Amino acid sequence: MTEIVTAKTAGYCFGVRQAVDIAEKAAEKRGTVYTLGQLIHNNDAVERLREHGVIPVNDPTEAEGSIIIRSHGAPRSVYDRIAELGLECIDATCPYVARIHKLVDEHSRDGSDTLVVGDRKHPEVIGIMGFANGEIRAVDSGEELDELVKSDKTFGTKLLNVVVQTTFDMCKWTDLQKKIKKHYTNVKIFDTICRATIERQTEAAALSQQCDAMVVIGGAHSSNSAKLARICAESCRVFFTENAGQLVREHKDSLKRLLSSANDVKIGITAGASTPAYIIKEVHNIMSEIIKDEAVDAEFMAAIDQMPRVRAYAGNRVKATVVAVNKTEAVVDIGIKQSGYIPAEELSANPNLSPEDVVKVGDVIDCIVTKVNDADGFVYLSKKQVDAQAGMEKIIKAKDENATVNGTVTAVVKGGVIVTSEDGARVFVPASQSGVPRNGKLEDILKKEVGFKVIEVNEGRGRVVGSIKAADREATDAVKAKFWEELEVGKKFVGEVKSMESYGVFVDLGGVDGMVHLTELTWNRVKHPKEVVSVGDKLEVTVKSFDPEKKRVSLTAKKPEDNPWTKFMNEFAEGDVVKVQVVSITPFGAFAQIIPGVDGLIHISQISLERVTDVSKVLSVGQIVEAKITEIDEEKSRVSLSIKALLEEGGDEEEAPAEE
Ligand code: SF4
Repeated sequence: MTEIVTAKTAGYCFGVRQAVDIAEKAAEKRGTVYTLGQLIHNNDAVERLREHGVIPVNDPTEAEGSIIIRSHGAPRSVYDRIAELGLECIDATCPYVARIHKLVDEHSRDGSDTLVVGDRKHPEVIGIMGFANGEIRAVDSGEELDELVKSDKTFGTKLLNVVVQTTFDMCKWTDLQKKIKKHYTNVKIFDTICRATIERQTEAAALSQQCDAMVVIGGAHSSNSAKLARICAESCRVFFTENAGQLVREHKDSLKRLLSSANDVKIGITAGASTPAYIIKEVHNIMSEIIKDEAVDAEFMAAIDQMPRVRAYAGNRVKATVVAVNKTEAVVDIGIKQSGYIPAEELSANPNLSPEDVVKVGDVIDCIVTKVNDADGFVYLSKKQVDAQAGMEKIIKAKDENATVNGTVTAVVKGGVIVTSEDGARVFVPASQSGVPRNGKLEDILKKEVGFKVIEVNEGRGRVVGSIKAADREATDAVKAKFWEELEVGKKFVGEVKSMESYGVFVDLGGVDGMVHLTELTWNRVKHPKEVVSVGDKLEVTVKSFDPEKKRVSLTAKKPEDNPWTKFMNEFAEGDVVKVQVVSITPFGAFAQIIPGVDGLIHISQISLERVTDVSKVLSVGQIVEAKITEIDEEKSRVSLSIKALLEEGGDEEEAPAEE
């Protein structure tokens, strides 16, 4: 009978579990969170975390907002760099690793040397070395230790502190301790191998002695998984794999041969500290299938390839069939026995839509599993997250085509706002690109619908930067181009008076300002625009002339039907005697208003029968006099008046009549 035994200690250790929990919670709170390096050495798990918003970066400068130090820890200089960059540091260093940092720091303060037993290229060892205050070296084997002793005669001569990488091979560590004591006389050894590692390695060693083969599950870069494989290989055959799919693809034939070689075959399974439980379970299930049917054929292989697609674990993308919709959620079937629920807020990025607006019974939709509650047997999913991914594709297309994307401002964050596109993509718009004036409040555009241009996309980090300002500018430029294209003399506008100068006013014609000169504001004589308009008034204007090159438009607010000259020509003729009011005095005569908007000139020679040398001595502004219209120049719109002509006609009548 063939038997499969899974090691009790297989899978996530305490430190990795803690780091994953910290990262998931941080991503849930902040939307996106960065980890310095991959959080764990397992590609499946890293991808699943990425879908949750946990993004690995190689350098703190690539992060924004917050950065997580993973369970391996990091050198002290990295913490300083994070602080310098103003990033929030979320420290998920495993407490066992943090203890080594403390030991190295404290015991090297007196300047004594430190030796780390471990792989000097491993992030944990790099981190440890960054806490030494004196000289520090790392060795991975007896040979490396011999080399160090030979090449550096002064190292460790006074006092040598020794620590060991948490996941170091126990047997090798025992041997190395003996060697260290032989080479160095004054030595303090701290056994810092972690208990989880010891237990996992001890159990793997024991299990492998009872088995015909061991399946060791772990990432290709996981040193603790590689060590497990080495330990097991001392007692039996080892199949090293990252997941079930790889096991079947790469070891199927060997497994078949092994199973057919004897009646009673015992296979053990163990896994490195970065292996999630679901992968261990999946490998176990597939091994069981292989044992049940040793003839693993093409059909079975195809079935295996299908298997991982319907997995209910947080972060997995699945196809779901809508089986019921109500006001608060959609109930879906994802092909497993548990019921799937998509809460209303996870159906769409648009909070104004109800579930019935988004899906209907029978729809087959793509979703992401957000939570599996084993206690109540429910699986919770999100359609919104899938839409956001699709939205990202549209965002990239929009950037390539420089198209404007529409969205709603959904949050005000440090340094800008978040706009959620109509397709659910989250876009960061820096304050400088928000279109809000420097002294304005970003909150003023919260919940507003806006258009934006995509100015930066980082697919790997799921980061999109947009500019509302650029979209506004483009829209304004388009309006202006259309304005100049359609502009013609005589075109009428109703515009708002934007500003006022002593010589006229500027009127907004819809993105372009035109100028109404003081003399074009009214047919009447005014000294300042404020006599007839105020800033903010709506003014009916007509284009008099324009210059597209200089972007100038001259306007008039005068209406032809109100032209007083037309009225004057209809009502008056040369020879008429009119009562006029003196409106201004000049050295060569006086102007007098005949009707509002039409003045006539009483030349100095036409004021009196007597010779007048100073007009102001005879006439004054406001004075009403009777005069004769002696000439009308229609072309130049000029009227000549004469008091003298009336006096001459009146013979010996008294001089210039005057009424106040
Ligand atoms: Fe911490 Fe041990 Fe896990 Fe390393 S193996 S993260 S030291 S618990």
